Amino acid sequence: MPALAPFPGTTFFHKGQRSPVIASMGKRLVAEGCGKYRTGPGPEWTDADKQSYAAWQRKIGFEGAAADGIPGKSSWERLRVPGTQSAPGGRVASPVPGHGVTTHYRVKGPHWSLGYHTGVDYAAPKGKACVAVLSGSIVRNGDDRSFGNFLVLRAGGFDYWYCHLSEQTVKRGSVKAGQKIGEVGSTGNATGPHLHFEKRPAGGGFGSDVKPVW
Ligand SMILES: [Zn+2]
Repeated sequence: MPALAPFPGTTFFHKGQRSPVIASMGKRLVAEGCGKYRTGPGPEWTDADKQSYAAWQRKIGFEGAAADGIPGKSSWERLRVPGTQSAPGGRVASPVPGHGVTTHYRVKGPHWSLGYHTGVDYAAPKGKACVAVLSGSIVRNGDDRSFGNFLVLRAGGFDYWYCHLSEQTVKRGSVKAGQKIGEVGSTGNATGPHLHFEKRPAGGGFGSDVKPVW
């Protein structure tokens, strides 16, 4: 998903206004579960944008006239940096919020190159947010024949591998627990959209996997 542009000012949002900024705002609103679109989102400012934005304002605690559906600077900034609202200091329940494990760790099978599953899978629709399970740093990103687009989060002496991504939202540097870092996909050797999530000692190669707890 493309990054959201800096806040363009309240007068920017009026009926008939067209801009890619409006389309990317709409996509962010949909990702946050606030989309009220029958078709779209699109580049033209419509009532559906206003309703969707009002839903976002209510989601982050705005009330009454503050949830008028017209973007303001503070609500925009919170929409701009995905995932900063989730898990305020709390434990992250899943690297794919709202989705549980669909293939467990160390399940045996001939289709895995080591004869067993080296991580856990979270099947979820393409584009679902993947979040950092701990605060740490994205130390590696890449595109691998097996793992597809992947990110490596280093935290507490371990590496957490996020594989088969459709999108790498954060490619390098520090991230907070709960922050969105990528999106579910089926890149590399995958039969459908899912996150393959693997834990290894920091710097550990393929096969050094440990149980993916955090
Ligand atoms: Zn897997």
